Amino acid sequence: MKLNGELTDSLNFYMGHEPHDLIAKYGSPLYVYNERIFREKCRDFKHLCKYPKFVVNYAIKANSNLTLLKIAKQEGLRAEVTSIGEIELLLAAEYDACDIFFITNNATTAEMQYAIDKGITFSADSLSQLDRYGRLNFGGKVAARFNPGIGSGHHQGVVTGGEETKFGINESEIPQVKEILAKHNLTLIGINQHIGSYILDIKIFIDSVKRMLNIAANFDTLEFIDLGGGFGIPYHKQEGERPLDIAALGTALCEFMGDFSAKYGKQLTFMVEPGRYIAAESGVLLGNVTAIKYNAAKYIGTDLGFNVLMRPLLYDAYHGIEVYRNTTEETANTAQPPFPIKNEIVHIVGNICESGDYIAKNRNLPIIQEGDVLGVLDVGAYGFSMTSQYNQRLRPAEILIREDGAIQVIRRRDSYADLLRNMRVD
Ligand SMILES: *Cc1c(COP(=O)(O)O)cnc(C)c1O
Repeated sequence: MKLNGELTDSLNFYMGHEPHDLIAKYGSPLYVYNERIFREKCRDFKHLCKYPKFVVNYAIKANSNLTLLKIAKQEGLRAEVTSIGEIELLLAAEYDACDIFFITNNATTAEMQYAIDKGITFSADSLSQLDRYGRLNFGGKVAARFNPGIGSGHHQGVVTGGEETKFGINESEIPQVKEILAKHNLTLIGINQHIGSYILDIKIFIDSVKRMLNIAANFDTLEFIDLGGGFGIPYHKQEGERPLDIAALGTALCEFMGDFSAKYGKQLTFMVEPGRYIAAESGVLLGNVTAIKYNAAKYIGTDLGFNVLMRPLLYDAYHGIEVYRNTTEETANTAQPPFPIKNEIVHIVGNICESGDYIAKNRNLPIIQEGDVLGVLDVGAYGFSMTSQYNQRLRPAEILIREDGAIQVIRRRDSYADLLRNMRVD
């Protein structure tokens, strides 16, 4: 029985499966994804603009589960990556090298050489990186990341444009960019930006696009302009927060693309790189309530430590929470339900030996009991991908509820053997 399951019910998220049953079968904690929702989010972006050369690169650091990568490919998305490991996963998911854009930050020579050998488009993030790339790949093609001078984000840790950031080449450095390109006979085929993560205000994004187009006008060899990702989702949707106005975003962007190409004299490819938007809302993290405790406040103890969900600790991030109670068939039919459901203010904490280990603070939730299962909402992005084995805990399994309701384990839970796998044991 769901004590406050309006959200997942309205989405038919579990497609008839009971959270308690899922945990009983696949273990706790458990990442649960819904295929239909993931596909819907891919399509939102795929159909954002009618412009003929509009490309969506899924920023796979948000969630790089192989099965989800394959679904994104089926939906016609390409990919944006930050590391060789991410490229290896994409190749395993049968992406073509030409569908991968490698946007690096302070890359090593080995990373550059890997991109060159595989024929993957590489974006340099500073003058010194551009120069280093040129030394390796004389006469080659390259992209460059610019900082449009505007940043945005839900937390200082994810603002990646503006003055206070390590990312990108500044507009004032364009003459030096040209010198370096000439020195190594490089062709600049693309420029890219990414101003930060969690943009819900389209205006900031559009302002950054205008600045990027000004930068683009300085180069006559471009094939593409990549406008970046960072599109937000309503983490406070239980309280009525509205989603990003995707239609308005599409209309505004499409106009820029057509107009700029006309001025540029060539139909350029325009890219965007959503990560969070694609994956976040398709995932729920289930965990067990293992203790109720009163200190200065009421604490709900769970097996949801920051090893399985890092965002609350790292960014002070908010995730909605649903509470599920196990009722046998008999009691479900006969017992008086605890209506009206009473709420109280609690902290939800995990099982890691650090005080910062919380999932939610001061939350107004139905009165929770031991044995309840919690569903932490909107964890499909930067959830599993940020898990660790800290405290030598096992990374959870990931399961996918297919469109027909069937369940697939798309990553098995770590085993204790996994903890030892890379260590010297003699
Ligand atoms: C992380 C990242 C993205 C995706 O950001 P989201 O907020 O998940 O959309 C896109 N582009 C670059 C370069 C990134 O580093």
